[in-house]
Amino acid sequence: MVFYVSDEVDSDDSVPVRTTKFCPECGAAIKINAETCPQCGVVQQVTQKSQPQPTSKNPIIAAILNLIIAGLGHVYIGRSKRGVVLFLLTMVVAAISSGLGWILGVIVCSYDVYKLAENKPAPFDFLDEYIEKYWP
Ligand SMILES: [Zn+2]
Repeated sequence: MVFYVSDEVDSDDSVPVRTTKFCPECGAAIKINAETCPQCGVVQQVTQKSQPQPTSKNPIIAAILNLIIAGLGHVYIGRSKRGVVLFLLTMVVAAISSGLGWILGVIVCSYDVYKLAENKPAPFDFLDEYIEKYWP
């Protein structure tokens, strides 16, 4: 039995997924182990350095702490900066919503810290980018 293997392989569209990644700077498909992007020359991070440290803190305790004070649970799991930012955000939302936003903020922050403590994607993950940038 003969298997016909198509040799109509590639062109640039069919880059194998596992061996390539996209340059965060210019979006070019480059080898996953590439140290610099051949297109724009930006140095690539080979290891996922920006991943936050996994935490082994109790998600329920973290969530309860955030129900008391927004951001307190983040401090508990070692994400103090994010906790402070969320606390301030909750204050602002509360101020412009006659206090109602406090309840909402506290609930959303509790959910955020619960997910964080489980080492799962959380709603406020996008904040880390700004925190790293403006509050290193
Ligand atoms: Zn590039």
